[in-house]
Amino acid sequence: LEVLPDDERLRVLKTWNATTAPPPTRPFIRMFEDMAVAQPNAIAVRFEGATLSYGDLNSRANVLANRLIHLGAGRGTFVGIALERGLGLMVVLLAVQKAGSAYVPLDPGLPELRLKFMVEDSGVAMIVSSSDVAGKLDFPEGVQCLDIDDVEFACTGATVDPDSGPALSDAAYMIYTSGSTGVPKGVVISHGALANFLCSMLEEPGLGETDVLAAETTISFDIAGLELYLPLLAGARIELIGSSTAGNGYALAEALQRCGATVMQATPATWQLLLDADWQGGKSFRAFCGGEALPPELAGRLVDRVGELWNLYGPTETTVWSTAGRVDRSDESISIGRPINNTRIYVLNGDTPAPIGVAGEICIGGAGVAIGYHDRPELTEDRFRSDPFTDRAGDRIYRTGDLGRWGADGRLYHLGRMDHQVKVRGYRIELGEIETVLNAHPAVRQAVVAAHRAGPADTRLAAHIVYHPGQELTTTELRRWSRERLPEYMVPSIAVSLERLPLTPNGKLDRNGLVYQFDNAVRLDAVVEPPAPGPETLVAGIWKQLLKVDTIAADDNFFDLGGHSLLALRVVVEIEKITGSRLDPRSLFFQTLRQFSAAVGDARGGNR
Ligand code: AMP
Repeated sequence: LEVLPDDERLRVLKTWNATTAPPPTRPFIRMFEDMAVAQPNAIAVRFEGATLSYGDLNSRANVLANRLIHLGAGRGTFVGIALERGLGLMVVLLAVQKAGSAYVPLDPGLPELRLKFMVEDSGVAMIVSSSDVAGKLDFPEGVQCLDIDDVEFACTGATVDPDSGPALSDAAYMIYTSGSTGVPKGVVISHGALANFLCSMLEEPGLGETDVLAAETTISFDIAGLELYLPLLAGARIELIGSSTAGNGYALAEALQRCGATVMQATPATWQLLLDADWQGGKSFRAFCGGEALPPELAGRLVDRVGELWNLYGPTETTVWSTAGRVDRSDESISIGRPINNTRIYVLNGDTPAPIGVAGEICIGGAGVAIGYHDRPELTEDRFRSDPFTDRAGDRIYRTGDLGRWGADGRLYHLGRMDHQVKVRGYRIELGEIETVLNAHPAVRQAVVAAHRAGPADTRLAAHIVYHPGQELTTTELRRWSRERLPEYMVPSIAVSLERLPLTPNGKLDRNGLVYQFDNAVRLDAVVEPPAPGPETLVAGIWKQLLKVDTIAADDNFFDLGGHSLLALRVVVEIEKITGSRLDPRSLFFQTLRQFSAAVGDARGGNR
């Protein structure tokens, strides 16, 4: 039934979607080349003290692009990028676009099996890597691998812009996201969509040539596109933050101060980390937050410390962000703002627009909609539909699976998910993908994974497992199985062994009946011996507080108890506050409480 009066229908479909702006006529990479001509000597990017000017960045990218073209890159091909963060990464990202290929981020930190899947599924023509990374990875035979350290960036004729290059309809990149049926899926984004997104962001929230943007996001996450390309359109400077600094609130606060950053984009978990480290912000600082719901208490603390706070929303499938809104001190609830340029948002119940204030599925149309999922026609057909509210042939919408509503003033509100997709520290995770991996273990009869909220911007995964009789796995075995197949952020923090899964009265799985049964989980494998007096008790106290558990044994491992990398940093910070010595958070990874505490004792001894 059509319940909307005509004027309200007009408002939600047209008035609030009146975002038409002149569409970009050229890919981002061409606009960057103009900037390199206009201000060749300005610094484009800085990493650990080393810099590249606009001119140098462009000519290096040209040298590499010409080399890639020579090796077979070009329109219609994919090129994998397996590199740590650094100036070289910037050169490669631009070079692949200049060559006309689309890049596929292959994060060297992912498990080998997952990387192998991505390389095979994408059919990359070649992979650009560096000697330190390539040595650790075992790519399938037959895939060409170019070592960036072997490329001679001397000034030669090869520094001119290659004349070939991408059309707006060509793919610019492909990013893999978690897939509910057990394997990740590649989202293919066009140059047109990327250029439209960047031009819209340049207008609002906006960026100017005096800005310094601290870029801290891995390129496996599409939002890195804002951090690495937007400054290059504005003539601004990118300050690349190394991954270990990005995950440590104190180090990040220090880095922001040192480089004179004026803008940073991050997920709520990272902003939380910064605030926990007592970061003071500043009135000329602008904070862009997105990737998962911005908790109101976090927004309140942030907005007091910065000049501007923006909440940005969008899935990978519609190119980084599709809505943007400035968060005000007076906001009672946190809105995700309004659609960006050339973007339409519909809140639908089935095919019918929901009235103002009524929840429905957020569907996104316009210039940002992806080409589709790579090699997954049924899935693409299911999630991408033709736009029922425009008369232009070819216009499509993406059904996000997010629940939202319109506010009376034309701002949008995000209300959660309609399915089992969750966010953990900004990472998008389909619980079904983890369940598929666990269910594939021969000892497992049935596994269900649930996300539990442990605090603002702190979600933890718990696996609830029913084993075949007598085949219960130890935590260690289960972790090894998961770690070999899933990225670190998808490995459940705890595993609970159950005799049977809770069911609703009509026999369906009762997900609400899956409680965070901590004790049961820990005791799967641990030898219960209490912490010894001294450093072990000190560290156990810090773990208990951060992990919110009652008991910790000497042989417990921080990560098996529900810890994750951000909490590990907080352990290190707490220990530093008490003892004055700074430890490496990575030392928590493979150590028991006893082994880790020994290092605390040593550091304390050494400091005296
Ligand atoms: P990804 O594809 O990793 O960017 O994840 C997209 C999903 O993250 C969206 O469909 C939302 O569920 C969630 N998301 C992203 N930004 C926000 C935000 N600002 N507020 C609430 N949820 C968000």
